[in-house]
Amino acid sequence: MAGAEVVKNYIDGEWKDSSSGRRIEVDDPSNGKTIAVVAEAGQEEVDLAVAAANRVFRDRILIDMHPYDRGRMLFRVADALEARSDEIATINCVETGKALDLARGEVGTTIRYLRYYAGLADKVEGRSIPRGAEFVDYTVRSPFGVSAQIVPWNGPLELTARSLACAIATGNSVVVKSPELAPLSGVEFARACESAGVPAGAVNVLTGYGHTAGQALIQHPDVRHIVFTGSPATGRAVLKAASERIVPCIMELGGKSAAVVYADADLDAVVEAVRIGTYLNAGQNCNNLTRLIVERSIANELLDRVKACVEGLSVGPGLENFDITPMISQKQRQLVEGACQVALSEGARIVTGGAALSDRSGYFMAATVFSDVKRESNLFQKEVFGPVLAVTVFDDPASGIELANDTDQGLAAGVFTRDIDRALWCAERLWAGQVYVNGWYVGGVETPFGGVKQSGYGREKGQEALDGYVQTRNIGIRISPPSSGEVSGTQSRTAALDQGLSQPFTLSNLVQP
Ligand code: NAD
Repeated sequence: MAGAEVVKNYIDGEWKDSSSGRRIEVDDPSNGKTIAVVAEAGQEEVDLAVAAANRVFRDRILIDMHPYDRGRMLFRVADALEARSDEIATINCVETGKALDLARGEVGTTIRYLRYYAGLADKVEGRSIPRGAEFVDYTVRSPFGVSAQIVPWNGPLELTARSLACAIATGNSVVVKSPELAPLSGVEFARACESAGVPAGAVNVLTGYGHTAGQALIQHPDVRHIVFTGSPATGRAVLKAASERIVPCIMELGGKSAAVVYADADLDAVVEAVRIGTYLNAGQNCNNLTRLIVERSIANELLDRVKACVEGLSVGPGLENFDITPMISQKQRQLVEGACQVALSEGARIVTGGAALSDRSGYFMAATVFSDVKRESNLFQKEVFGPVLAVTVFDDPASGIELANDTDQGLAAGVFTRDIDRALWCAERLWAGQVYVNGWYVGGVETPFGGVKQSGYGREKGQEALDGYVQTRNIGIRISPPSSGEVSGTQSRTAALDQGLSQPFTLSNLVQP
């Protein structure tokens, strides 16, 4: 794209080119054409961004702000995004390839995250701990400092917002590493922060690659908190770097989410769950419905219905709101095609799809259904991150749950039945961070989200998310001290024991380590 304006990094309230002069080209996945050129952040930009964020923290710019005002600031960021929501949705749609309506939904969710945590900013409270007449004791829930936030490409705007809103609401400052395949949404987020008057350095957004800018960021000595949303493989690398400096992490990783379908289920609801759960955004959602575990007596009927639905899905560019939109990149599509080849070699049967739609110019992949998928196969066990559904049958009720739980992932799971007793029995036993009953994506901004097992730890969304952005500190105050000399009396001796002192409690030995 000769002559196109270079999109810059947002660092310390300014738009900065990269010192190396290197660039990243951003593609439209629906046709492979370059739509933007961004400045590639490297070590120097990481250093500048972390220094700015650290200055904001050390100068207590956000911490000393009234929490209500931090909330008002987030409300203003939401307003700034809302004022340009059509334009930003179009950018999000074109850089990710997703349907425009889905991109509009992403902008809406982004705004809701900001407003939700804005409203909670002044409700992050400590507690007072009774310790007898001589002490006042209370806890404060303090920010960590510089929070490094690594964002994937499948929801680049809303996944920026959900972590950043919590961090700012609680007084942390933030450096975001936007995804190299879809960096423009993060840049729009930075623009909204700028126009909302977020103090310079409190929010920094870098456009760079993971192995360079991302790696430099997670290794930076002044980073005190990491939120990583992405693949388990990269998550392990992030954890290794974090372990060097004992940096706390929130890990939002992949999934292999299953729906267990009992014979009494409403099959229309199941088919609709498959339509949205498996195929929206070309199957590139972490809590996608990837495995359908079906009671044998209804398996053939359900498979026929799913096949009819999937073969009826329209294919085309996200801007025109087709059902099956392109995958993010040629590489991602090749990974999905490879996973389909492996599934065939491991004995699964193709019901429909299974290959790239190479007659089109973009990175389109056919909506795919496999049946006869064995529990030990790769398709059953490993995340594919594409429009691929694996169907497996079961015979007795307990084995449905056992199959659903038989992977090392646990982001989401679902059950379909008209029997409330069975639904509750299953909901308790499905081992996943979110459980959906008779639908898919049955959760929202207000409901805690995150993984069990290798899908990660820590929670995003809901009030629980705030717990991951603060550390509890305790303040103990000794009150009404005697004017001088040795203290006597039962309460003072109790205090002495509490302090671990073998000697009687005197002012002279009141020295804390
Ligand atoms: P990825 O792990 O390849 O990349 C994620 C981010 O990490 C990108 O910004 C990338 O540049 C960065 N990165 C790569 N190497 C790095 C390194 N060494 N150090 C620091 N950062 C590095 O994942 P992806 O392909 O972008 O996203 C898809 C994955 O994300 C899937 O596994 C999906 O399930 C997961 N995901 C999880 C959630 C969730 O909330 N649990 C949400 C969305 C996506």
